[in-house]
Parts: sequence; C-alpha cells; structure tokens
Amino acid sequence: MAKQIYDVIVIGTGAGGGMAIKTLCEAGLKVCALNAGRRLDPEKDFRYHRMPWDMKFRGLDDPKRRGESYGYMDNEYTKAAWDHEIPFTVPPGTKWMWLRCNAVGGKTNFWGRSSARFGDIDFRAASVDGYDVDWPLTYAEIDPFYTRVEKMIGVASTVQNRPSNPDGHYLPPFKFRCLDYILEAGCNKVGVPYLPDRCAQLTQAHEGHPACHFCGECT
Ligand SMILES: Cc1cc2nc3c(=O)[nH]c(=O)nc-3n(C[C@H](O)[C@H](O)[C@H](O)COP(=O)(O)OP(=O)(O)OC[C@H]3O[C@@H](n4cnc5c(N)ncnc54)[C@H](O)[C@@H]3O)c2cc1C
Repeated sequence: MAKQIYDVIVIGTGAGGGMAIKTLCEAGLKVCALNAGRRLDPEKDFRYHRMPWDMKFRGLDDPKRRGESYGYMDNEYTKAAWDHEIPFTVPPGTKWMWLRCNAVGGKTNFWGRSSARFGDIDFRAASVDGYDVDWPLTYAEIDPFYTRVEKMIGVASTVQNRPSNPDGHYLPPFKFRCLDYILEAGCNKVGVPYLPDRCAQLTQAHEGHPACHFCGECT
C-alpha cells in the first residue's frame, strides 16, 4: 500500500474525537481517524423498528448474563460494541462501571440525546463551593461552541429561562404524550415546573436528516 502522510491522527471517533475530526477536515487538513472496534451497521446492529417480542430476550439480554453486562444498553444485540476485555478496579465497597464502547462513533451510538448546557455557575463552582478549582473557561466563552453544536445536530426544546441550564438554539419541542399531561398536572399541584429536556432528536427535518418518525420509545 502506498505510504500515506496525514496532517493529524485522531484516535477515537466518539463525541470528542468525532468533533475534532470534523473541525480539522473542514479546516482543510488531511486527517486519519483510528478507532478500536468496528463500524456498526444500523440495519443489523440496531434494534429499532423491532418489537420486544421479535427479540429473543426482549432486547434485555440473556438473564444468565445480566449481572456481567453494563445494563440495558449492553444486550445480545449490542454486546459486540462494548469493551469487556480491559480490566479496571474500583475502591473496595464501591460500585462503578466504566462503560467503554468499542465501535466507530463511540458512545454516541448509545447516548440518550440529552443536550443540556452547563450554566454559568458550573464553570465557577469551586469559587461558589469554596474548594477545588474553577474551570479555566467562562460560560460566555463556551456559549458560541454550544450554539454551533446545537445548530449542527438539532436539539428540540423550549425557552425556559433557567440560569442553571441556559437556553440554546432549539428546534420546536416534542408534543406532550398522555403521560406528560398526567405528570404535568401533578407537578402543577406542588409548584414544580414540568419542562421538556434539551433533546437531540429532530422534530423537523434538519441539515439533510429527516424528522423523527416516532417508531420507538426514544422520546
Ligand atoms: C447509555 C449512555 C447514555 C448516555 N446519555 C447521555 C446523554 O443523554 N447526554 C449526554 O450529554 N451524555 C450522555 N452520555 C455520555 C456521552 O455519551 C459520553 O460522555 C460521550 O459520548 C463520550 O464521548 P468521548 O468522545 O469522550 O468518548 P467515547 O464516545 O467513549 O469515544 C471514545 C472512542 O475511542 C475509541 N477508543 C478507545 N480506546 C482506543 C484505542 N486504544 N485505540 C483506538 N480507539 C480507541 C472507542 O472505541 C470510542 O469509539 C451517555 C453515555 C451512555 C453510555
């Protein structure tokens, strides 16, 4: 094979590496992306468009294996995408799972699409709490980058005026389902606002991608 010279090598193609790859390519650099694990095929590897009864273990994996898996997202249909080989330890008496995805796209293949912004207070939490160190960035500095990503991926939500979870640039929100109206009524009784999440799921066609067609339980 002819020798290839790259300007940059990015190792890992998850949310972090993926964005770096996109930014560098758009800046005209020649980028080599390396990722442990294979490229997933949505037709074969994703279980959307299938009903639970179409799946051997209802999409929850073999009961005999459940204690070893990473939980609901690590099942008979996705287990090849998770790394179980590299061991890690946790302090005695604690339970913690280091979920590592071994597939192109990393954990973007599994994430729940919740796309909240950190608030101004999060960047200076150390000063507020009185210990540790603040972020070396302010909310104002990172705001344009949140905007850039929201506009790129498409995030559905509403303007909520909550400083701890600032508003961004949103597609129209998802309509409430019956359950939402019941919960909203309960929240109203105790004075708690019932608000839509910042959800990276398309309520309308966006940047060449069609709108969500509500096939599954995602929303
Ligand atoms: C089930 C689930 C739900 C989540 N829901 C949300 C949510 O709703 N909102 C939210 O903000 N966050 C959510 N997260 C967290 C979010 O998905 C992750 O924080 C984010 O995707 C991590 O991106 P990353 O690029 O840092 O790492 P990863 O996505 O883990 O990417 C790392 C990549 O590097 C590759 N790699 C690792 N080692 C090597 C190596 N030695 N050589 C080559 N390649 C290697 C891996 O295969 C992987 O592709 C969720 C996570 C999970 C697991």
